[in-house]
Amino acid sequence: MQPITNHMPTAELQALDAAHHMHPFTDEAALARKGARIITRGRGVRLWDSEGNEILDGMAGLWCVNIGYGRDELAEVAARQMRELPFYNTFFQTTHVPAIALAAKIAELAPGNLNHVFFAGSGSEANDTNLRMVRHYWALKGKPEKTVFIARKNAYHGSSMGSASLGGMQAMHAQGGLPLPDIHHIDQPHWYLEGGDHSPEEFGRARARQLEEAILAIGEDRVAAFIAEPVQGAGGVIIPPDSYWPEIQRICDKHEILLIADEVICGFGRTGTWFGSQTYGIRPHIMTIAKGLSSGYQPIGGSVVCDEVAEVLSHGEFYHGYTYSGHPVAAAVALENLRILEEEGIVGHVRDVAAPHLADAWGSLADHPLVGEAVSTGLMASLALTPDKARRARFAAAPGTAGYICRERSFANNLIMRHVADRMVIAPPLVITPEDIDLLVARARTALDEAHVILREEDLLKAAA
Ligand SMILES: *Cc1c(COP(=O)(O)O)cnc(C)c1O
Repeated sequence: MQPITNHMPTAELQALDAAHHMHPFTDEAALARKGARIITRGRGVRLWDSEGNEILDGMAGLWCVNIGYGRDELAEVAARQMRELPFYNTFFQTTHVPAIALAAKIAELAPGNLNHVFFAGSGSEANDTNLRMVRHYWALKGKPEKTVFIARKNAYHGSSMGSASLGGMQAMHAQGGLPLPDIHHIDQPHWYLEGGDHSPEEFGRARARQLEEAILAIGEDRVAAFIAEPVQGAGGVIIPPDSYWPEIQRICDKHEILLIADEVICGFGRTGTWFGSQTYGIRPHIMTIAKGLSSGYQPIGGSVVCDEVAEVLSHGEFYHGYTYSGHPVAAAVALENLRILEEEGIVGHVRDVAAPHLADAWGSLADHPLVGEAVSTGLMASLALTPDKARRARFAAAPGTAGYICRERSFANNLIMRHVADRMVIAPPLVITPEDIDLLVARARTALDEAHVILREEDLLKAAA
């Protein structure tokens, strides 16, 4: 059987795409003028498009293809599971082996007493589960007034009503009447852009203390939980100062609130441990998981819940669930993905080989005239574009103008690197070799050089006042 892409010229596919396919997070008019790039195939850390270009995927798809593309084992497991039991639900006192086995495996890998999994189809769904589950938990404990979630500006927790409300993306809130009530956002620990003259350590502590200030202002009897990503991903790979998480943990320990770590990106090896919570010394009551759980080969997510919360919830029915909660094919594929991550020592490869290599290679970009900082943790990294390194200045042009130009030069050089406003980000598959890291960084440097020329020619190197 021929894939459809081999029958049709790229231009025709692009026309059909523009006519019928509504893309997420895309300016449709701009895309229609240009035509979408059509990805047809993947192997390891590489992708191919319908024009035959070989592309280095610096983003692991969308932060998710941790084991790389083209692992036949996952395809075989999916085919076997589809033949045996393509679907059954986990509602109403039934279950099946893939969901059982995956829940048990996640409980084994997860730190502390995080021993229970509520499955969802995605990270967004899992965070919606968390919203309802935590409020329900407090109600069961006789404290129904504890409903307020504290989250952070520029956080990303998903795109559904609940998860986008938890997220701190202003542009998202402006569309569709968000956030939902009783969700409060504090500032992010983004030292580079917001730290002013403070040292990163001072600034990290001050930003963490905003949590305590918010708890005291709102009232501890009203606050249900704090939710945050160990490292903000979609917000621009914002690595918090070392002082941040210990202070957050202290505050959560002191006050009666739950701590939710959104591990959708950091989970399953991204930071060089199984979970970002381990890298940053966080002890969450609940972890949100998705993405790397199945390396993106199947859509699946979930909430990993501690003993204490699960115990309280075990009295009575939680009226919540998704048709595809614990979907057998997705669960079987996720389990096989975890087997590969574990047996091939991929998390150790990140910690001992790939992350130190990336830290050096990526860090070397800091000498580029356009780069204000180049930072990484595990296999996620970012750099700030700036017209004036010494002042950590922003551009006078609209935010994202320089970032977009740099991203386009990166794509033109067959590297997928994203921009978040004027920050460039990468998060390659965890199996990337030191040689491919060098190639990635060399292409990133070329993109920076070319973007620098364009910015100069178009007189866009001016700093904001
Ligand atoms: C991607 C992401 C989500 C949402 O996951 P979806 O599967 O896209 O719904 C939630 N939290 C974080 C931290 C993410 O990066």
